[in-house]
Amino acid sequence: ESLVDFSGVAMQFPNGTVALSGVDLTVRRGEFVTVVGPSGCGKSTLLRIASGLETASEGTVALGTKRIGYVFQDATLLPWRTVQANVELLAELNKQPKKARAEQARQAIELVGLAGFEKSLPKQLSGGMRMRTSLARSLTLDPELFLFDEPFGALDEITRERLGDELLRIFGERRFAGLFITHSVAEAVYLSTRVVVMSGRPGRIVDTFEVDQAYPRD
Ligand code: ADP
Ligand code: ADP
Repeated sequence: ESLVDFSGVAMQFPNGTVALSGVDLTVRRGEFVTVVGPSGCGKSTLLRIASGLETASEGTVALGTKRIGYVFQDATLLPWRTVQANVELLAELNKQPKKARAEQARQAIELVGLAGFEKSLPKQLSGGMRMRTSLARSLTLDPELFLFDEPFGALDEITRERLGDELLRIFGERRFAGLFITHSVAEAVYLSTRVVVMSGRPGRIVDTFEVDQAYPRD
């Protein structure tokens, strides 16, 4: 069952820049796909198209779900809101009752390992903890498809590794499908069931390989 399916996707921006060409890519339930490639090869554009923020200029994009989570590199938290209030934001915008959204946020905060920090403000948190908060906020949507745009890009190596492990644990519990962008091949291989390599300008998929999950994770 495919959650997102790109077929012959090309993207030309109004200023004439062609960011993507001939992209075919499918993410199915249970898969965690990483897209790796150098800066400027169109990775973010691909993700923005998957999320509906951008419309492809050619080809088709079919979505198998409306429950899509999206996490960016800068954690985009509201600075005046506590962790709890930041995590409740999406449910609040969806007009969910107060009690239900508080409970949902509590579960998400627990899942990302931030229990005890509900009342903290973003500026009191480390970069890793801000990313966890952002992840918790998206988890309240109970996404079936989770899009990650270099979520650990601004973090140091050790934090990246730790959060990568946490993400795998959360993936194991929630079983959302993932489409994860990174420029780190090591991170891609470590995290995913399939690695898609992009390159060039405009960006194309130049290679795809399945990862033997049992090997890198043991
Ligand atoms: P990556 O995420 O791999 O670094 P991007 O998807 O951000 O690559 O960008 C791919 C190419 O498209 C780049 O050349 C970038 O400058 C260009 N680009 C991205 N967004 C726009 C836009 N809104 N208008 C024009 N060009 C853009
Ligand atoms: P960073 O890697 O940016 O420092 P982390 O999420 O790894 O961010 O956390 C940094 C520090 O914050 C940890 O070393 C720990 O001291 C504290 N911390 C993070 N999460 C928790 C937690 N759930 N409980 C207690 N302390 C935590």
